[in-house]
Amino acid sequence: MNEQQTYRGSCFCGSVQFTVTGAPEAMGYCHCESCRHWSGGPVNAFSLWKPEAVQITRGADNIGTYHKTDNSYRKWCKTCGGHFFTEHPGMGLTDVYAAAIPDFDHQAAVHVNYQETTLRIKDGLPKLKDFPAEMGGSGDVLPE
Ligand SMILES: [Zn+2]
Ligand SMILES: [Zn+2]
Repeated sequence: MNEQQTYRGSCFCGSVQFTVTGAPEAMGYCHCESCRHWSGGPVNAFSLWKPEAVQITRGADNIGTYHKTDNSYRKWCKTCGGHFFTEHPGMGLTDVYAAAIPDFDHQAAVHVNYQETTLRIKDGLPKLKDFPAEMGGSGDVLPE
């Protein structure tokens, strides 16, 4: 068996550091209004990991948490304000932003919440209206 690979991540300034180990449950891009507003960008490159795959290695007491809803606990660095992941307790998964784990090869398989898009991306990947059916969404696919 292969050793599980570990990738290092951090906030923008580096005072919060963490690792992710193994492989994510899913990868893709989210176009929802919450991701756009929180990130300041037009899409969020997400990777969803089991919570135990994510370990804080430095600066745990420097992590701020904000939750507008009980679905998403958003984590940010109290020094630089940089965002690095969001815990989704309902899904039992943690979304680690691809930009926060630069050595990890982010391979998107799907776009979600495309009904809210402000930036159409013609990459041939499926464009889900909201979420996959197995995650409680409609599973409906929209044109690019
Ligand atoms: Zn920071
Ligand atoms: Zn989103």
